[in-house]
Order: sequence, then structure tokens, then C-alpha cells
Amino acid sequence: MKIAILTIGDELLNGDLADTNTAAIASTLMDNSLPVHEAATVGDREEEIAAALLRLAKTHGVVIATGGLGPTDDDRTARAAARAFERPLSLNIKAHDQIRARFRAWGRDMHPRNEKQALLPGRSAVISNENGTAPGFHLKNNLVDLYFLPGVPGEMLAMLGDYVIPSLLERFPDPPLLCQRVMTVFGLAEPEVETRITRHGLPAGVELAFNVEVPIVHVKLRARGIHAQKLVDRSEMAVRQALDDHVVGVDGETLAACTARLLSAAGITLALAESCTGGLIAKLLTDQPGASAFLERSVVSYANSAKREVLQVSQEILDRHGAVSAECAEAMARGVYQAAHTDIGLAVTGIAGPDGGSDEKPVGTVYLAMISRWAAHTERFHFFGNRDQVRLRTACTALDWLRRQAMTRLSGEAQEN
Ligand code: ATP
Ligand code: MG
Repeated sequence: MKIAILTIGDELLNGDLADTNTAAIASTLMDNSLPVHEAATVGDREEEIAAALLRLAKTHGVVIATGGLGPTDDDRTARAAARAFERPLSLNIKAHDQIRARFRAWGRDMHPRNEKQALLPGRSAVISNENGTAPGFHLKNNLVDLYFLPGVPGEMLAMLGDYVIPSLLERFPDPPLLCQRVMTVFGLAEPEVETRITRHGLPAGVELAFNVEVPIVHVKLRARGIHAQKLVDRSEMAVRQALDDHVVGVDGETLAACTARLLSAAGITLALAESCTGGLIAKLLTDQPGASAFLERSVVSYANSAKREVLQVSQEILDRHGAVSAECAEAMARGVYQAAHTDIGLAVTGIAGPDGGSDEKPVGTVYLAMISRWAAHTERFHFFGNRDQVRLRTACTALDWLRRQAMTRLSGEAQEN
């Protein structure tokens, strides 16, 4: 069984909108061992939508289309499907009732234009939309199943899960077993990750792939067949042995999420002093629900005056060593640690660029300092990349320090018990 995705909309072709629907559908299908063979995008022209549908229906058993089901004139998907499969549009009573019910639930009158959304190609089944007005529809043509869903990601995903996936699993009760796992790796470059994994070796039959989202490397493990799950489990163990504590998380756990989880678990409290990251470390940590369990404050001390007044960095340090120096980073960390009375004070200061570098301290020079109840450590880094990348690498390195500190505390506790 081959599955194709068709996303529809001019805004996807002119660069106004990034197509996230394809990735969201593909990943939901993969979770159900249903791999996608092709994905295509067309604009809002009726004849082009019709041509794309016909072409995909010729070579695939399933086509999942999104977009163009709205009430406005530029939404032409239903008309295109009617044309492609010679099923003239007619008022679908069930769809009409659902749209009316939706408006009633919102306490609003149905606009006459919304009637258009109940015009569906003949002999199609309605796919209810619990979150919006546009119903989807399911059309069978010869042996091909075509599913039409609205473009709005939240509506589309709910309908995919409630209708399309069950319908596919009914048609293909034994999809080829497929197991995939994605591991998040930090602190090693992609070639080094690959070298270490291949040197260590993986079980036969496991596909290995990489995907970089600077500064994170994602390692993908995939296996097919009845032993897929076992093979992937064994491969995960092998990758953990090969990469040691550079493995941050599995199946979507980000560095920030992992750090937050471990800090909470270890009961460690934290205060930050951020210069070149401008609050990014705090942002990444407070993206995690429950961050108040460990984060006491983050001081964004950008100017020297702020470093002096808020963090008690001495004028002498600033004059003698500069704001980007080990001494300043240490003083910032100590300042916030003493003010906040937390277990850890962590500070970063650096030159993110593009200007401000010198021979001695080129762009990308960053100092991290951490002071805690247990130890103090300061380190100089030279990060590569543009301003965004230097800032992100700095923030991720800080998160990694915290993650490792929390792991050390947790393993200490485990040994004591
Ligand atoms: P509506 O009833 O809102 O008009 P629709 O089915 O007509 O729904 P579109 O008009 O194509 O859908 O898209 C509605 C919105 O959904 C777009 O403005 C966009 O924000 C989002 N959207 C559409 N297609 C995609 C896609 N492929 N990826 C991500 N977002 C999308
Ligand atoms: Mg629309």
C-alpha cells in the first residue's frame, strides 16, 4: 500500500507559509507503521489540484489531502475532487447539519457562505470536524481511498487521528511492522557521532540516519519486520554505549526538557545571570511547564552598569579583564548565586557577533561560569556560526552543564540509598 500526501494552497508555494502539515501527517502515520511514499504541494488552481489528485491516485492506494475546504472562493478542493473523479458536487445533508450544529454551539448564525462547505463530491463520506466549520470528506475511487482534510493544523490532526488512521488500519490491519526511534545528542559533531556508532556497531537490519538541528544531532534508528521493536531497543542500548552521556533524550525529549526534568528530580534550585544570551537560557527552561520548581531568577545583565549594580561585579574586574572574561563570568555567577541563595548560580558572557570581536577574543568567544554548593567551574569556549548559532550553542552548553550537574546529584543520591 502506497500513501501520498497532497498539501494545497498558494501560500505554501509563494513562501508565506511553511508546510507543517506534511511532516505532522507523516509522523502520525509513521507512529502507526504506515510509511508515506510521496508528498506533493499544489496551489489553489482548480485544474491543478484536480490533475495532482488524478496523478497521485494513479500510483498510490491512499491520498491524504489538506487545505482548501474553507468557505471562501479561493478554497477549491471539493470542486477539484468533483472534477477529477467525475462526481458532481451536491449538498451533503450530514455535512450541512454538522456545520449548522457547530455554529449553534458557538451561539452564532451560520453565514450563507458556509453552506458551500456542505457541497461535497457525490458518494463521499463526511469526516466530522469537531474544532472548526469545514467538514472533511472521504472518497473512494476504484481501489483508492482519498481523504480530504482542512488546512488548519489543529483541525486536520484531530480528524486524522479520529477518522483517517482508524480507517487505514481497518483497510490494512497488518501494516508492515516498523519501529522508529529518534535520539537527541548534544556535544558531539555529526561525523563524530557516526564514527562512534559505527565503531561500536549496531544489530544487523537496523537503518541509521542523522539529522542536525544545530547544535543538536538527532540519531534515527529504524527497523522493519516482526522483530522491529526488539532490534530498535537493542540499537538504542548500543548507541547509548557508544555516545555515553552525550545522549540527552529519546523520542522528542529536548535538551531543555531533559535538563528541566532532571533539575526537578534532583531538587536543585538555580539562578542565572545572562549577558550574550539575553535571557535565552531562561526562555528555554521556562518553556517547560513546572520550571518554577527549580528556576529562582534569571538576570539579563547586558550592560556593564547592570553587571556592577545587580550582580556586584567590581569595576576593577571590568577594567582589567573586560566584560567578556573568565573573571567577569565568575563574578556574575557568584553575584547571582549570593543574591538568590540557590543551589547553583550560572553565568554566561560572550561575543555573539557579528561585530565586537578582536584577535584575542574573536566573535564566538564565550565564558561560562557555574558556582554551586558542590563546586565551581569556569570555562572558555569558541563557538562557530552566526549570532543566532553562537547564542544557541551558549544556551545549550549551559543547559548541558546543568543537566550533568543534576545527573551527578541524582546518581550520588542513588548510591547513598
Ligand atoms: P479554512 O476553513 O480555515 O479556510 P481550509 O481547509 O480552507 O480551512 P486553508 O484555507 O487552505 O484551509 O488553510 C487555512 C489555514 O491553515 C492557513 O491559513 C494556514 O494557517 C493553515 N495551513 C493550511 N495548510 C497548511 C499546511 N500545509 N501546513 C501548515 N499550515 C497550513
Ligand atoms: Mg481557506
